[in-house]
Amino acid sequence: MKQKDIAELLDEPACAHNKKSKSGCAKPKPGATAGGCAFDGAQIALLPIADVAHIVHGPIACAGSSWDNRGTRSSGTRLFRIGMTTDLTEQDVIMGRGEKRLFHSIRQAVDSYRPAAVFVYNTCVPALVGDDVEAVCKAAAERWDTPVVPVDAAGFYGTKNLGNRIAGEAMVKYVCGTREPDPLPEAVNRDGITVHDINLIGEYNIAGEFWHVLPLLDELGLRVLCTLSGDARFREVQTMHRAEVNMMVCSKAMINVARKLEEAFSTPWFEGSFYGVRDVSQALRDFSRLINDPDLTSRTEALIAREEAGIDQQLAPWRERLSGRKALLYTGGVKSWSVIAALQDLGMEVVATGTKKSTEEDKARIRELMGQDAVMIEDGNPRALINIVRDNNVDVLIAGGRNMYTALKARIPFLDINQEREFGYAGYTGMVELARQLVLTIDSPVWPAVRRKAPWHEASRDTVATTQGLPS
Ligand code: SF4
Repeated sequence: MKQKDIAELLDEPACAHNKKSKSGCAKPKPGATAGGCAFDGAQIALLPIADVAHIVHGPIACAGSSWDNRGTRSSGTRLFRIGMTTDLTEQDVIMGRGEKRLFHSIRQAVDSYRPAAVFVYNTCVPALVGDDVEAVCKAAAERWDTPVVPVDAAGFYGTKNLGNRIAGEAMVKYVCGTREPDPLPEAVNRDGITVHDINLIGEYNIAGEFWHVLPLLDELGLRVLCTLSGDARFREVQTMHRAEVNMMVCSKAMINVARKLEEAFSTPWFEGSFYGVRDVSQALRDFSRLINDPDLTSRTEALIAREEAGIDQQLAPWRERLSGRKALLYTGGVKSWSVIAALQDLGMEVVATGTKKSTEEDKARIRELMGQDAVMIEDGNPRALINIVRDNNVDVLIAGGRNMYTALKARIPFLDINQEREFGYAGYTGMVELARQLVLTIDSPVWPAVRRKAPWHEASRDTVATTQGLPS
């Protein structure tokens, strides 16, 4: 990828923080890729496209370090769960065999699995060697009559976030707009309802949580052309250009996709979240507002009233147990505010939130929810997190998997909120699951047990006390 293309991706006008400086996103500092390199970002953004053969062109370690670390689910094919790599070795580099290996790897993937398409991820080594990945993909696509998409995301190009954008850019450049959506079976009307087409961008169906939301959209007559990329199929990504509205779900990772679809096809978009009762209702309202169909608006309001009443009843016993409990939230980006709303819905108090990866817009939303004096943690090193928990009598630390051992070693109740989590928290029903998991975590009998002194410490103290009481 040329330097000018990288600079263009870093300069994202749809991002609020872009306005802060002319250079767009900050340049990565040494060590910044410790949170994932550009290749990692590109692969996690596209891997959930389930019927595609994802080939990592590079040494095997690249594939190993990032493959399937998101708990994304598919409702059908599981091809995406097969890790594929060209497994470049020193000999391949010395002998200049990289392109050849890639060509044959694509053939093997097509012959063995008949995928809907092949995605080829470029990594550091072939990028430095100068393999022409785009040309190989073009030749392979012609030879085997299968779409082969190059995703040029070598790790040294930049951060994980840049990788997300590179992935989005590849979809807009090579895939979106290459097929028309399937015609609706019953013309435009279904039960007298006008069906509207929408896309969700940045929804990864972690732990199958999007399936909590899909029935609601279906009931409203909102046909999801594509979720980029949770439980997506290649043929769905091809039709994204025909949506009436795009929703950026809880992530600015692929904001360039929303912006480019708006520029090319005038598709309006909004940013929303499916975490928390208020935010789910708001997202549904935003769809009807942008589609501007009065019938849809009234049906949306009726559905929201019904669902909120039902969920209020289901949440009542959980709210009783969680009300007044304190949480420390340490997660990245947009989740730093969307999960606050969900916790407040449950009557909990959020004492502080992490903002390391948040934009200025995210921080403004945090202040809206937590007040002007909201405590924002920029640097969440383990000691700082533990101190905040101790100083504020926090009941639970809600964070990503890499903070799990910090919490457990300090005997602090911990709930995983990031991509490795086992439970889906999106939608109205996801709130019940979140409440249930919070109660199970906070009230687990393991905490009083591990905080008690070990019996032999108690015993030795008793022995000392008895000995001290004896006459000399
Ligand atoms: S792409 Fe580069 S930085 Fe990323 S895992 Fe591979 S070698 Fe490491």
